[in-house]
Amino acid sequence: MSAERVESPLALTRRARRMYRMLHERYPYAHCELDFDTPLQLLVATVLSAQTTDVTVNKVTPTLFARWPTARDLAAADRTEMEEVLRPTGFYRAKTNSVLKLASAIVEEHDGEVPPRLADLVKLPGVGRKTANVVLGNAFGIPGITVDTHFGRLARRMGWTDEEDPVKVEHAVGALIPRKEWTMLSHVVIFHGRRTCHARRPACGACPVARICPAYGAGETDPDKAAKLLKYELAPGAAQ
Ligand code: SF4
Repeated sequence: MSAERVESPLALTRRARRMYRMLHERYPYAHCELDFDTPLQLLVATVLSAQTTDVTVNKVTPTLFARWPTARDLAAADRTEMEEVLRPTGFYRAKTNSVLKLASAIVEEHDGEVPPRLADLVKLPGVGRKTANVVLGNAFGIPGITVDTHFGRLARRMGWTDEEDPVKVEHAVGALIPRKEWTMLSHVVIFHGRRTCHARRPACGACPVARICPAYGAGETDPDKAAKLLKYELAPGAAQ
């Protein structure tokens, strides 16, 4: 794409969909990296994932949910005991507080069940649109775009939107990509941000969308050097 030429809305839509297809081919196995069995577990795990990695959260949630399996159990949990379980995730006092409040609200307002609606989810304490969309998309199968730090950065680099505000990014990208793809779109873009298009040094020389990315050159373009920046195992059989 020429940097000087203004891209028409149709051309932008086509390019965005093409980029999504290319990224999907690169990460066909992209998924929510938090482990969960129920909407409640995913909601709590997403709250715990603030300021830490999904891997760390996955280490504590089996103990957490074995000890307190339901929203009622979590709401009635002993604070000190829960703090000990959550300690490895960092900010464990604040996170314990969040889980206790969240569980109480689910018990009091939704009879112990996580509500499957955006409008209800975002009214729960500590739950924003990002968390709500993660839960809707992955635990309820309702398409949602999760604009986290990776998604916002990549949507701007890939020229899908200039918006900075996450809700505006969500709406702008939602207008480009079919609704049924939104949850998978979120996964592949976040995978790409974590593995290839890093905040500081994107691996442009090893990027599947390099040819049609307006930000190509923001990072390392030499293919060998770029390949060393990749932070993931390629899918079995994928060429690199
Ligand atoms: S070409 Fe570079 S900036 Fe564009 S998506 Fe790929 S890694 Fe990111």
